[in-house]
Amino acid sequence: MLNFRFDNAFVRDLPGDPEQGGHVRQVEGALYSLVDPTPVAAPRLLAHSREMAGLLGLDEADVATVQFAQVFGGNALLEGMQPYAANYGGHQFGHWAGQLGDGRAITLGETIDAAGRRRELQLKGAGPTPYSRSADGRAVLRSSIREFLCSEAMHHLGVPTTRALSLVDTGEAVVRDMLYDGHAAPEPGAIVCRVAPSFIRFGHFELPASRGDTALLRKLVDFTIRRDFPELGGQGEALYAEWFAQVCERTAAMIAHWMRVGFVHGVMNTDNMSILGLTIDYGPYGWVDNYDPDWTPNTTDAQRRRYRFGQQPNVAWWNLSRLAGALAPLFASIEPLQAGLDRYATAYDRAARDNIAAKLGLAGCRDDDVALMQSLQALLQQAEIDMTLWFRALADVDPQAPTLAPLREAFYDETKRREAEPALGAWLARYAARLAEDPQSSGQRRRQMRAANPRYVLRNYLAQQAIDRAGQGDAGGIHELLEVLRHPYDDQPGREAYAQRRPDWARHKAGCSMLSCSS
Ligand code: AMP
Ligand code: MG
Repeated sequence: MLNFRFDNAFVRDLPGDPEQGGHVRQVEGALYSLVDPTPVAAPRLLAHSREMAGLLGLDEADVATVQFAQVFGGNALLEGMQPYAANYGGHQFGHWAGQLGDGRAITLGETIDAAGRRRELQLKGAGPTPYSRSADGRAVLRSSIREFLCSEAMHHLGVPTTRALSLVDTGEAVVRDMLYDGHAAPEPGAIVCRVAPSFIRFGHFELPASRGDTALLRKLVDFTIRRDFPELGGQGEALYAEWFAQVCERTAAMIAHWMRVGFVHGVMNTDNMSILGLTIDYGPYGWVDNYDPDWTPNTTDAQRRRYRFGQQPNVAWWNLSRLAGALAPLFASIEPLQAGLDRYATAYDRAARDNIAAKLGLAGCRDDDVALMQSLQALLQQAEIDMTLWFRALADVDPQAPTLAPLREAFYDETKRREAEPALGAWLARYAARLAEDPQSSGQRRRQMRAANPRYVLRNYLAQQAIDRAGQGDAGGIHELLEVLRHPYDDQPGREAYAQRRPDWARHKAGCSMLSCSS
């Protein structure tokens, strides 16, 4: 029996749309619309996160029930659930896009666990809502596998993220034009149940602000602080200012983690920015293979590369500035908001320096270490070196006799390797000299580096292999990957295949290096 305690604060405390049902509309003066998931033909559980299930008080037997697949496939509701789609707007690719909302996400309810922690359960791909615009409210299996796996992989990497409880095959086809080339085709559909304390996005605040609805904006801010930031004290403008600064600091921490592990979100629109600083909305994201700050996995963004890897810290700041703009009507002057943005810059700078120290295995980051890292990054880019493999193996370089031997696996191109060898050798010598000045023992250094530089990340081609297998009816690849990604910092004997650089065939293959938003 699935048994949750629900406390649906969002729909209880905030104004909703008086109309019900899924027909598409503009919704003013309200932060959500009540709408039920649309049942699917034959829901079947493909995968679940046992950690997430455990946190929700479910054991393996609960997960195996028919009821579980029914509920998390959108075919049945539990007592206490109040499904709704949220109403928000957003800046997409730099432009105000107006009302967006949950077009294919439906929150089932807010659970409270035995320890009093709140977790919202949200289905992605559960059918049309008032915010579906011209789309169908469904999700395809391939993008659902990607969201399911990456949510859990990020969690295990220590990156703030929304979580995934389950992946359900709907037994229904969804029609998509995967390459945007006019060849739409039916694909299997799926539903992920995502879990987070809150799914409120920057765009939630931008929409009422854009409509001049300051009363609704204030209601939402007061609600968010009360429900999602209960630790904050004070009141009035001072409380709002401290809250905004917290959002800035959390966002800085999240982005620094992305940069540490080589994650590229791909669509950092303000409707995809969580107010809790969680990574949210896994769409055309990707993992950096060969180090390249200009790389983006998102074909929709291939021209301007607004959301490329190296740009993410700046984009987050830009997004926070949009949030600040939305919150401005609650402040007598913009100074407190400017101070919050400054906190972003300070927090990001500090976190980026912590990354340098951790990735290089230093007790602390000195000013000249920033330059040391920058010159390494330039070499990694020029010589086409795998980011994950390089940093992981760097711990194995002997500072007494530094050579490139432990780093051999990290190279993609033999000619570039030979060209870069002298410069890389010189860099290693500089690095070894720096380590000689560091107070840590070599054991401490190696432990620190192995805790910051993962061995296993969800490389795009690995996800694609699991997707291809699932398309042939074999979910085993999803389970195997999930298992490996539960311990990304451990060497896992026998699982070396998951820690290899991207194979050549994957370099330009759809799904492996190119993804679109249309999922
Ligand atoms: P995304 O790019 O996935 O963050 O989506 C941007 C907006 O489009 C959000 O409001 C989504 O809910 C909506 N959307 C994306 N895909 C679909 C879909 N298949 N059906 C309905 N709405 C969608
Ligand atoms: Mg989105």
